[in-house]
Amino acid sequence: MSFSMKEKIKQQEKLIIFTAPSGAGKTTIVRHLLKTLDYISFSTSATTRDKRPHETNGKDYYFISHEEFKQKIADDEFLEWEEVYENQFYGTLKKEVKRIWAEDKQVIFDIDVKGAESIKKAYPEKTLAVFVKPPSKEVLFDRLRKRKTETEASLKKRFARAERELAYEDKFDTVLLNDVLEEALEDAEEIVKNFVYGDEKMIDIA
Ligand code: ADP
Ligand code: 5GP
Repeated sequence: MSFSMKEKIKQQEKLIIFTAPSGAGKTTIVRHLLKTLDYISFSTSATTRDKRPHETNGKDYYFISHEEFKQKIADDEFLEWEEVYENQFYGTLKKEVKRIWAEDKQVIFDIDVKGAESIKKAYPEKTLAVFVKPPSKEVLFDRLRKRKTETEASLKKRFARAERELAYEDKFDTVLLNDVLEEALEDAEEIVKNFVYGDEKMIDIA
C-alpha cells in the first residue's frame, strides 16, 4: 500500500488566512510560508493604495485606480472587499481563488480582520483563519514605525485601526503569537501543515 501526499492535496480546496493589525507580521510570515510550502499559493489582492518601492505589481498586489476598483465591484469580481483605510480600498478577487484551486494548490491570504470574517463566512468548512498577535501594542507600533513604509499621517491611521483590530483575536480559529520571529515561522508552518494534511483520510493510490 502506498500513499501520495500530492494526490491527497489535489482533492482539497482550502483557504488559509493570515490576518492581524498592520505591523503584526502577516506579510513576513506569509512570505516565509510561500518559500517553504510548495502546495500553497498567494491570493494577490487588488488595491487602490500606492505601490511601495519594493513591491511588484501583480505579485504583491494589483495596484489599480479607484475607477477600476469600482468597476470590479460593479462586475461582481470580488469575493470580499473593504475600505481598510479612508479612501484606500483592498479586495480579494474571485478569479485568484479559482486560478489557484485550478492549479491544485491551497490559497493563502494576507488580509484585514473584516475581510477574513467575510471569507470565513463564505467558506466556513474550507477556511482556516489565523490571527497573528503581536506581543504588545507598543511592540506593534514600534515595528510599524521601523518598517519605514508609512508617512506620519498614515502611521496615525494605522495605529488607530490597529487598536480596534487587536480586539478581534477571539473571532478566528487560531491565534499565532509573533514575538520571536523564528518561533512564529515554525508555528505557522505547523498550523498550515496540520490544516492541510490534518484530519483527512489518506488516499490509497497504489
Ligand atoms: P504586516 O504584514 O502584518 O503589516 P509585516 O510583515 O510587514 O507586518 O511586519 C511589520 C514589520 O515588523 C516588518 O518590518 C517586519 O520585518 C517586522 N517584523 C515582523 N515580525 C517580527 C518579529 N517577530 N520581530 C521583529 N520584527 C518583526
Ligand atoms: P498594506 O497596505 O499594509 O499592504 O495592507 C493594509 C491592510 O489591508 C492589511 O491588514 C492587509 O492585510 C489588508 N488587505 C490586503 N489585501 C486585502 C484584501 O484583499 N481584502 C481585505 N479585506 N484586506 C486586505
